[in-house]
Amino acid sequence: MGECRGEARRLEGRRRIALAKRSASAESCEECWALLGRHRGRIWYARRVGRTLGQPASVEFDGLWVLRREEQRLDVVGFYHTHPGGQPRPSARDVRTMRAWAGAFGKPLLCVIASPQGLAGYRFDDDRCCGVALAEIELFPRGIVIGVDTDGR
Ligand SMILES: [Zn+2]
Repeated sequence: MGECRGEARRLEGRRRIALAKRSASAESCEECWALLGRHRGRIWYARRVGRTLGQPASVEFDGLWVLRREEQRLDVVGFYHTHPGGQPRPSARDVRTMRAWAGAFGKPLLCVIASPQGLAGYRFDDDRCCGVALAEIELFPRGIVIGVDTDGR
């Protein structure tokens, strides 16, 4: 009998944790898109596709689709995601994720972050890069994103 109640308590505890996790992710409501397009000279020209909830690193995000797309079309230029309650700066997890993608694709990738404080773009050249802020980044109608690299001077 006592053992039975203990088991019920453990189950209840687990259910609470699951509920807390679910409401936390619903609250942050992070949205993510892949960016398809091109990067020529200092100009990034891309459009957002495949909106999902969750970051590029999360389970909800379809990383396999992105890998296949890059293999077939070579036009994945990065990711666009939101920080609904934070700064438009890459989190430690964003940096790890962008390094992994840039390393896997063997080319620079763009990380665009939208927050209530504005839009910012960061370029990740490889699996060691910390993210270099773009000089300009702007979102246009129909999910078109245009960015300009710093000229390095
Ligand atoms: Zn982020």
